[in-house]
Amino acid sequence: MLEDKKLAPAQLGRVLVLGLGKSGQAVAEYLLPLVGGRVEALCVYGGTATEATLAWADAVRPQGAAVVFDSEEVAGEYDLCIASPGISQFGAFYQSALQASAEVISEVEFAWRESAADSVWVAVTGTNGKTTTTALVAHILQEAGLAACAVGNIGDTCIQAVAARKWTHYVAETSSYQLASTVDFAPQAAIVLNITPDHLAWHRSHEAYGQAKWKVLANLSRVPGAVAVIGAVNDETRAKVRELKAVPAAERGFAYVPIGAKGGLDKDMRQVCGAENAAFIDGEGRLTVALGGRVHSLLPQVDLLLEGAHNRENALAAAAAALAIGVDPSVVSAALASFQALAHRIEPAGEVAGVACFNDSKATNVDATLAAIGAFDPRRPIFLLGGRDKGTDLTPLVEACNAHAKAVVCFGEARERFLEAFAAGAAPGLQVLEAPGMEAALDAGLAAAQPGDVLVLSPACASFDEFSCFEERGDVFKQLVAERAAKAE
Ligand code: ADP
Repeated sequence: MLEDKKLAPAQLGRVLVLGLGKSGQAVAEYLLPLVGGRVEALCVYGGTATEATLAWADAVRPQGAAVVFDSEEVAGEYDLCIASPGISQFGAFYQSALQASAEVISEVEFAWRESAADSVWVAVTGTNGKTTTTALVAHILQEAGLAACAVGNIGDTCIQAVAARKWTHYVAETSSYQLASTVDFAPQAAIVLNITPDHLAWHRSHEAYGQAKWKVLANLSRVPGAVAVIGAVNDETRAKVRELKAVPAAERGFAYVPIGAKGGLDKDMRQVCGAENAAFIDGEGRLTVALGGRVHSLLPQVDLLLEGAHNRENALAAAAAALAIGVDPSVVSAALASFQALAHRIEPAGEVAGVACFNDSKATNVDATLAAIGAFDPRRPIFLLGGRDKGTDLTPLVEACNAHAKAVVCFGEARERFLEAFAAGAAPGLQVLEAPGMEAALDAGLAAAQPGDVLVLSPACASFDEFSCFEERGDVFKQLVAERAAKAE
């Protein structure tokens, strides 16, 4: 093993890179200069060839890499395989790589192994809220003057950040795909926000999805002072809190901090079930973290620039992780108060004739949209819902709209099924409108709005019926809002 790295052998041997997406390319580019040194041979299986990957292969072959396209049957023998998150563990491609390799790991595991022995990692996972929470933690650490970067989904891949050799702290958004192929990955703080059904095509079962996420805790006991921060409002993650609590601290080997409790974020799990630590909103509305016998009263929740209870939860999680790795509470409070919403996540998008518009295009499933629906209480927004339907149960969506919305506009491919769900369950006070596409939905929503109202694009659907991705959908929405605003002046 190399002494200056977490867990990297002097010789990596024959290395296989499986998949040529963003992380596969980044891993291969990290390994290329090592060919002939730590790497005996490098082979990349790129999946289906595209113009871009063919050009990439032409550039790297002269540097000593073999690149294979259009085959899911891996030939040869390898000491190590780094698999892209897009390739399901249960698929033939991954299984073939597993046969051919002594070990198959994900990019985050590889980057962690290669990172400096004394570097600090914070891992963030959960079905919803990962990106926001990752950005929040990175922002707090940066405000504390640490050389911290957000990696994984926003910014660079983990291995690019490690290769840059300028960071001491990595805040990694780790998806279930990345976590499924971790082995020794051991962050100092691990945040698991919530687990609800998602990504069934990849993981095959909800159990496998949950198991992959919980792997983030697997090696915490090896890191002195490590802390698990776990959402306790969500049923599935709260069950894990109870499991952890049942194990004596010495045996468990790490501390845990539950965020909120069954009754909501204002519940303190120390009082509810005798947990040793807790993050919650106190009786005066302040974000509070009780950790290691000290109670840190942070900032009032109204000082957050982010909308919604889900974002207060994300802020509490980020605060608990930052405190756990030693950031001063006053720095945590100031950093939380200066953090602005990320693009496409309940992002302020401008005002049209007194109607405040928000872009929540990232809400591509019902759970994410539920977070947005409750976020504006006591204001009752108009929600634009639709796009490519994911087929999940809409009952909770209809109920939430009954409780919190003034109107909904159903649009896109999902329009019919959404309209049927509202026809069956909408409360008399809820206006249900329809429109063919997103632009028409915006206009229908604005037509139904009064000055002072809030209008939110939070579609609960994928974007692919009209757009290439949720980012494009959100950008178009912001552009349309800007045009309507200019006309209204
Ligand atoms: P992810 O990276 O996990 O997809 P994001 O931070 O990008 O999460 O947020 C995606 C959407 O999920 C947001 O638009 C919001 O509606 C919802 N969301 C964010 N945080 C939470 C949370 N803690 N609980 C539930 N939903 C959330």
